[in-house]
Amino acid sequence: PLPVLAIIGRPNVGKSTLVNRILGRREAVVQDVPGVTRDRVSYPAEWAGRRFMLVDTGGWEHDAAGIHARVAEQAEIAIHMADAIMFVVDATVGPTATDEQVVKLLRRSGKPVVLVANKVDSPRQEADAATLWSLGLGEPWPVSALHGRGSGDVLDAALAVL
Ligand code: GDP
Ligand code: MG
Repeated sequence: PLPVLAIIGRPNVGKSTLVNRILGRREAVVQDVPGVTRDRVSYPAEWAGRRFMLVDTGGWEHDAAGIHARVAEQAEIAIHMADAIMFVVDATVGPTATDEQVVKLLRRSGKPVVLVANKVDSPRQEADAATLWSLGLGEPWPVSALHGRGSGDVLDAALAVL
């Protein structure tokens, strides 16, 4: 079986955009519509001559249980099935309480994590990415999933631990 790289993070941080960037095509649904996208979708992917399964998470709704709980639940399932994880945070927002919750799950899992500081569309936004050191997951990789900036570097980093 192929190794599994799961992409987790809060809604709207750019997970599906990153998946499409990695796949080189628009397959993952950006801006999930509740009820349309399934909770987890796996795609066969290849990078630098290595094949792996890429798992996009999402499709969760802002329901009564609260977005916080839903993110944690989805993250837990994805972490369980993954060999390595890309944890995506919106660098323009900075670390949120939900992100901190996910960090706890990641720590407990002991699985390798690469921290993606997404939406760093220009060099002057790299300072935003640096605020994510506070999550305690090591180096935040500045990425613009939308424009492709830094996506190759972070994928190299993820495959190095996959
Ligand atoms: P998901 O819910 O985490 O899967 O997020 P999506 O991939 O659906 O993206 C949510 C929104 O963020 C969409 O409007 C994307 O176009 C936007 N977005 C994603 N990546 C970037 C990025 O690198 N820069 C900017 N400026 N916007 C982004
Ligand atoms: Mg999505």
